[in-house]
Amino acid sequence: MHEVVIIGAGLAGLTCARALQSGGVDCVVVEAGDAPGGRVRTDEVEGFRLDRGFQVLLTAYPAARAALDYAALRLGEFEPGARVATPEGPARVSDPWRRPGRFWETLLAPVGTMGDKVRVGALRLAATRGMAADGWPSGNVAGGGEIRSTAEELERRGFSPLMRERFLRPWLSGIFLERELSTPAAMLFFVYGMFARGAAALPAGGMQRIPEQLAAGLRPGTLRLGETARAVGVGQVTLVSGETLRAREVVVAVEAGAEAALGLDGGGNEVAWRGVTCVQWAAPRSPLGGEPVLWLNGTGRGQVNTVVVPSDVAAGYAPAGQTLVSTTVLGEPGLGGAEANGALTGVLREEMKGYFGPEVGDWRPLAVQRILRALPVLARPGRGYAPERSPVGVWRCGDCVASASIQGAMASGAAVAAAILKRG
Ligand SMILES: Cc1cc2nc3c(=O)[nH]c(=O)nc-3n(C[C@H](O)[C@H](O)[C@H](O)COP(=O)(O)OP(=O)(O)OC[C@H]3O[C@@H](n4cnc5c(N)ncnc54)[C@H](O)[C@@H]3O)c2cc1C
Repeated sequence: MHEVVIIGAGLAGLTCARALQSGGVDCVVVEAGDAPGGRVRTDEVEGFRLDRGFQVLLTAYPAARAALDYAALRLGEFEPGARVATPEGPARVSDPWRRPGRFWETLLAPVGTMGDKVRVGALRLAATRGMAADGWPSGNVAGGGEIRSTAEELERRGFSPLMRERFLRPWLSGIFLERELSTPAAMLFFVYGMFARGAAALPAGGMQRIPEQLAAGLRPGTLRLGETARAVGVGQVTLVSGETLRAREVVVAVEAGAEAALGLDGGGNEVAWRGVTCVQWAAPRSPLGGEPVLWLNGTGRGQVNTVVVPSDVAAGYAPAGQTLVSTTVLGEPGLGGAEANGALTGVLREEMKGYFGPEVGDWRPLAVQRILRALPVLARPGRGYAPERSPVGVWRCGDCVASASIQGAMASGAAVAAAILKRG
């Protein structure tokens, strides 16, 4: 008999387990996968470390700051800003608050009008001034009770089509994984505030170091990998193996929709997901000259949305003398399978020659990652997740109950642990 059984060792389940054990509560975590991390995993291929889809830790995330040892993660940080391909050629946008030396370059970049640069300042001010301790905007900043989309908010704030199409759309769609920017504006303020207050970073050796660090802090025997829960009953969890784990409390930390397979009601609504395709390349040299910076496609054409060079940002992503390039395409371009992958890498290679020159011809595809379930679509992402115990003693955490982000997952896990500890 355990005090708590947690199902799922993604960031939510791991954060919950760590907080429970720190509070003196015994728990066990069952995870269907072969390693902790859930959607934050890194594969090793020919000495390269390939994150499963490009993602970053925003160092300002309050829940991550509280639970992670950043120094031990040896974080490498992106430059604040981006290089942008425009129809007129390459441009650069920097955060003038953090890179004042680049103020004029940013002001004169063919990415938006002078008025847009002022509007960016106003957006930044709104995001940071209206920010609560948990990073979320206060209700009036985000439109109060009204659920505005990010696209509506950008239009309401008067951003020119130039600014929206060349910078804001490629940048935000790379974060929200959708081009329409239908994601609620609260998420825009949250993300903007987090970028303003901290850095976008990668741990040395890959994003999976984050869940590994959380898992390493658990008592030996807590984490049971390769164990799939099949059903949740009153005070018990039955595994596919037939074993039954008895517990005072059960925490369900699985991804959106996966509670149905446990015989639990997920709220009745079908969960929609945003997908993404990431192609990872081995290259002899960095196409960005070794600068740890995000590259965005602001040309309005082509498939590629974002290019990053993780090996320019943090240690351990590529073998010595080689470079890892990661290309993000929104959604799922074409079907899977080796033939489709070959066609996709061919198309992307030709497109990227236009941005980075003929040297792209020397790049070697390492992996085509089609991630259909990257971010759950949430109608009301936001703060204030107040966990509730179901009548049969089941708690729910995960990004789907808070916001589709590392912060959402970790904060919800911490909130459930705090609620269980409070019950005593
Ligand atoms: C490509 C991509 C890019 C992203 N970019 C960013 C970014 O830049 N910044 C950011 O903040 N966030 C980003 N995210 C989102 C972030 O990774 C997620 O919000 C977060 O990792 C979700 O954690 P979770 O613990 O809620 O869920 P998950 O990580 O999905 O964990 C759920 C776990 O439950 C396990 N499980 C399910 N069913 C069972 C069962 N029956 N028995 C046992 N175990 C089970 C699963 O195997 C899984 O390990 C990105 C995600 C992806 C995929």
